[in-house]
Amino acid sequence: MEKLSYPIENLLICALSRRLTDHLIGQCRQVWLARGDLVYERNRPYRYIYFPLSGVYSFRAIADDHRSMSIETIGREGMLGVAALLGNGDARFQCVSLVSGKALRISVGNIRKILRNNSGFDRSVGRYIMHLMGELSQSIVCVQYHTVEQRLARWLIEVSDQCQGEALEFTHVSIARLMGVRRSGVSIAAHGFLAQSLISYTRGSLRILNRTGLMEKSCNCYIPVKH
Ligand SMILES: [Zn+2]
Repeated sequence: MEKLSYPIENLLICALSRRLTDHLIGQCRQVWLARGDLVYERNRPYRYIYFPLSGVYSFRAIADDHRSMSIETIGREGMLGVAALLGNGDARFQCVSLVSGKALRISVGNIRKILRNNSGFDRSVGRYIMHLMGELSQSIVCVQYHTVEQRLARWLIEVSDQCQGEALEFTHVSIARLMGVRRSGVSIAAHGFLAQSLISYTRGSLRILNRTGLMEKSCNCYIPVKH
């Protein structure tokens, strides 16, 4: 296993004491999640929880045989599989890696034991769950009331923050599928951002050039995590 250096890149772990961090990562295995890897399959039991160190991961809800959308993207600010800590059920949503990255993986049984014995960590995870619930609720409002341009700006800022400003390798089609909108809507909005030099876009590689300008185009639905 590749040796980890401090501070650990995952922001939830970063907020823990050094003693607890050592204990936690002693129970973890570092894994590489390539773009497109299936992290959780729907209706299958959770076996592991993941703390991303890099990369971006999307939870996808299925509407029917032809339609689905990303309901949440998570990067190094959070953890994957938090629902496994709330019960013994199967995964409700599919999770796939959108941007390749590293993660610390721990079995559900082991993290439950650590949480039982560390109230501070338990509270941090509880706050994170509250954050996710708030974000998901806000997403309902966003989908209902905000334009594709506003939602695209929000999505680009959020995903760019999660992968720390690296270029985003997405086509208009793939972004439209993730957002659950038509490709033409994404293309019109993206061309507008290009014309105003808010982003650059070359052969599927997208980079934010003017974050402040893009924020002005966005709705206010992006809620960064506070640890
Ligand atoms: Zn919104």
